[in-house]
Amino acid sequence: MTAAPSHGPTWPDDCPDVIPLMPLVLSIWRDGVLSPSELAALRGHVDAQEDFSEAGRAAIKAWMDPDAPPTPEALRAVQQRIRAAVDPAAHTGSADSLAALGLAAWTSVGGDGPWEDPVAIGRLHELEATLGVLGGEAARRMLGVPTDIGTEPAAGSLVDIVLLQDFLEKDHRKLRERALKLVRANRTTIARGLPHAEYREQVLGAVQRLADEGLGRLAYPVEYGGSADPAASVAVFETLAFGDLSVLVKFGVQFGLFGGSVHQLGTRRHHEAYLQRIGSAALPGCYAMTETGHGSNVRDLETTATYDHATRELVVDTPHEGAGKDYIGNAAVHGQLATVFSRLIVDGEDHGVHAVLVPIRSFEGNAWMAYAFNHHISGSAGVRWQSWDHLSGADPGLNLAEDPGNVGAMLAGQRAMLPIGLNFLIPDGSRFAGNRLSVEAVYSMHHDYEGPQLGLDWGLNVGWTIGF
Ligand SMILES: Cc1cc2nc3c(=O)[nH]c(=O)nc-3n(C[C@H](O)[C@H](O)[C@H](O)COP(=O)(O)OP(=O)(O)OC[C@H]3O[C@@H](n4cnc5c(N)ncnc54)[C@H](O)[C@@H]3O)c2cc1C
Repeated sequence: MTAAPSHGPTWPDDCPDVIPLMPLVLSIWRDGVLSPSELAALRGHVDAQEDFSEAGRAAIKAWMDPDAPPTPEALRAVQQRIRAAVDPAAHTGSADSLAALGLAAWTSVGGDGPWEDPVAIGRLHELEATLGVLGGEAARRMLGVPTDIGTEPAAGSLVDIVLLQDFLEKDHRKLRERALKLVRANRTTIARGLPHAEYREQVLGAVQRLADEGLGRLAYPVEYGGSADPAASVAVFETLAFGDLSVLVKFGVQFGLFGGSVHQLGTRRHHEAYLQRIGSAALPGCYAMTETGHGSNVRDLETTATYDHATRELVVDTPHEGAGKDYIGNAAVHGQLATVFSRLIVDGEDHGVHAVLVPIRSFEGNAWMAYAFNHHISGSAGVRWQSWDHLSGADPGLNLAEDPGNVGAMLAGQRAMLPIGLNFLIPDGSRFAGNRLSVEAVYSMHHDYEGPQLGLDWGLNVGWTIGF
């Protein structure tokens, strides 16, 4: 068997005297780079520690070569050794700092050497302070115990975290604390590794909870339930960045981009129709600005909104693939209405980029009543309303060669139907007792299609329900 080639240092098994340095060295290499200041601090520490064994000194030196960084496997092995050596419940205070963690690891192997000397321990804490790491936070992460978000100053840290936090959060402090509590709650509800469909629903749920707390509408005018305070909204948005980033983006899209565009670019009519429902997340929406061929270059967007005098409608069109909308948050599943940035064309004249609101989802509503004539026969009647929109983009399932009518931009329509049904419950004693036969006749009261589509004048649904 040949040994695998070594591409960097590995931590020695036979040098207990350097064990207390393990967490600090691991933390230095976490970003994959040993900076000159980190190198100088570490070198200074090793030089000052006269009681190190020769083997230990050589081992640390091997970990101080910026040209031969440790492999990810070597870093993982060091982390595993730390976790195997230290039980945070048994080793009290081990998660307070990297120095404390290192010393706990050393104690657990019954080590001797320079670390019984308080001066040596002091130097180790000094090294941690010089490196400027958030030691408590890093130690907890190494041990795999839950970390607190910036509430505790690291022992010996050069930065006064409380002061820094106060400086950064002095506006809307209480609001930030409320948002942080919700971030923590979301952390416990949104599990890692969910299938993406389920994950999307969880993210929607988290955004809904934030809306229920009134945090989505803070920037909107007071008459629509808001606080007319855009800075408050930004404070919440900033705080959400400590949590799940999909929640952050969905929140930003729903209340900031979509709601913000309706608020800032819409008129009173739009505000009255939509703002309250956007702020409560009852109306999920999108901000459709970015195009495949135009990211930051909004001025040259190519989607068009052409005014049709005859129907008094704006016809929104994607003239070619590069003008297709891209990166649109909330569009995949939940958005119902989109602010679409497009060139306004009136009588052939281009009036530049304007925002128009476009419904993007089909809708079906049902209202019905039922009447039991006797134990075995019941009847039902109701109204069914369906409305659907044009397809935006292309659907490879629609083959234009086979059916030239399958143009995505001509697929919108709506219809109202009157379903009348009869249900027969098969009586006891017969072979099919407990089963149910349903017959429903559907009459189309109204239909209106915006392209050549298969219409529906009437229909018949027959069903057989097997009872167990
Ligand atoms: C998580 C996420 C969510 C998003 N959600 C939405 C959404 O809901 N709706 C939406 O419309 N868009 C959304 N976007 C898209 C976002 O708005 C675009 O990423 C942004 O407009 C930049 O476009 P681009 O990525 O095509 O980069 P480009 O515009 O191609 O820019 C590429 C690089 O060129 C630089 N650059 C561009 N123009 C200039 C210039 N004139 N001078 C000098 N440098 C320049 C940029 O700084 C950048 O470094 C989202 C993006 C992300 C990452």
